[in-house]
Amino acid sequence: MPYDQNNIFAKILKGEIPCKKINDDEYYLAFHDIQPKAPIHVLVIPKGKYISAQDFHEKASPEEISGFYKGLAKVVESLNIKNDGFRLISNCGLNGGQEVPHFHVHILGGKKLGPMLKD
Ligand code: 5GP
Repeated sequence: MPYDQNNIFAKILKGEIPCKKINDDEYYLAFHDIQPKAPIHVLVIPKGKYISAQDFHEKASPEEISGFYKGLAKVVESLNIKNDGFRLISNCGLNGGQEVPHFHVHILGGKKLGPMLKD
């Protein structure tokens, strides 16, 4: 499956639709999820065109991978959730329930999140 140039996060990266941006650099963009599932719900996406976690881990360069994850750590730091804890989620593909086909990591926090999955 090729990368969909018009997925919603591609449009955010191109500036075609707005987002509540937290920060970015050449490797990543962090912004608030439009339908937050927790008091803190932030999405971190790479600037490069990768469909999913699997695609990113397979195809991104070492610089892109370290730039992305260092960016993610910086965002966690800026959200002030390090001490209380938080959850990272990346839904991948059909079984993962991924809706937007541009790799993203959800950062969730701000309260006790409970069990990871519904029974
Ligand atoms: P997924 O199910 O693919 O892991 O998560 C996609 C996430 O993107 C969802 O949590 C959804 O609320 C969020 N989302 C979808 N469209 C937009 C949008 O236009 N702006 C923002 N900020 N988030 C979006």
